[in-house]
Amino acid sequence: MDFSIVVPIYNEQDNIDDLYAAITAALDGSEARYEIIMVDDGSNDGSYGALQRIAALDDRLKVIRLRRNFGQTAAMSAGFDAARGSVIIPMDGDLQNDPADIPRLLEKLNEGYDVVSGWRRERKDTFVTRKIPSRLANALISSMTGVHLHDYGCTLKAYRREVLDAVNLYGEMHRFVPALASQIGARVAELPVNHRPRLRGTSKYCISRTLRVVLDLMTVKFLLSYSTKPIQLFGKWGIYTLLAGVGSGAMTLYMKIFEHHSMNRNPLLILTAFLLFMGVQFIVLGLLGELNARTYFESQSKPIYVIRDRINLG
Ligand code: UDP
Ligand code: MG
Repeated sequence: MDFSIVVPIYNEQDNIDDLYAAITAALDGSEARYEIIMVDDGSNDGSYGALQRIAALDDRLKVIRLRRNFGQTAAMSAGFDAARGSVIIPMDGDLQNDPADIPRLLEKLNEGYDVVSGWRRERKDTFVTRKIPSRLANALISSMTGVHLHDYGCTLKAYRREVLDAVNLYGEMHRFVPALASQIGARVAELPVNHRPRLRGTSKYCISRTLRVVLDLMTVKFLLSYSTKPIQLFGKWGIYTLLAGVGSGAMTLYMKIFEHHSMNRNPLLILTAFLLFMGVQFIVLGLLGELNARTYFESQSKPIYVIRDRINLG
């Protein structure tokens, strides 16, 4: 199997026929052997019926139906787990992504990349509620993760399967796969892709997604930088806070002895107690984090490194 196309579907009944037609039209000229995995994420319209109908005629279309609506990331993850291709290509089920871009993504991947990420250069979505928050989020993700892309949110991407096997998805994390993949040394490239307005059905998201993305970004940043060494983060802040506490304590004493400021009337005393307390808390959190990191890595026999090639090692 050359590649697997993975499509999350949530209430897209009016798009499924056209989507299937567009994918097959874009790929049937080529020699490639491929499969299409459509994951029905607990739709409550006629989506599943439409999928069943096509799957009966074409066994390249594989259908997974989730028991309830688990969300786009979970649906994609179900598709990734079932995919058998050596390259995996997720895309939206609402025809906003263009299947005609798939051959170009594959070409780019074959230039020696592990991930090629689509860039909706001319994005056809509403300006205020979608494009502006997305611009800000992209800039933030780019500077925090150190993986510089213009458009993390584009579903249309191409992954080598080894890369996807190595990352586990939670929450709304599908947009962070390139960043997580680069953590294991994947080579990531970007390619402008076509984007079209949604003609049928409705978008499943509103502006509140921005908040979820920011929270997930915090998780990803922590995982990327500190998952194997939490004490380095919390311990550092703990020590700074303790030092600030000692400083403010010394100041309180100085004011008591040389300036005859009564300590219990000096607000610095409260600050001192607060900072010392926080400092200890930070360090204890770091130590608990270290314990957790050991449970996480050792319970899965997960190494803290990733190997690309080995020579003479069998
Ligand atoms: N989707 C899904 N589960 C959900 C929400 C969305 O499988 O809970 C699918 C949806 O059917 C579509 C894709 O994810 O194929 C992207 O959703 P949408 O087009 O609503 O997002 P937007 O393009 O507005 O960002
Ligand atoms: Mg869409």
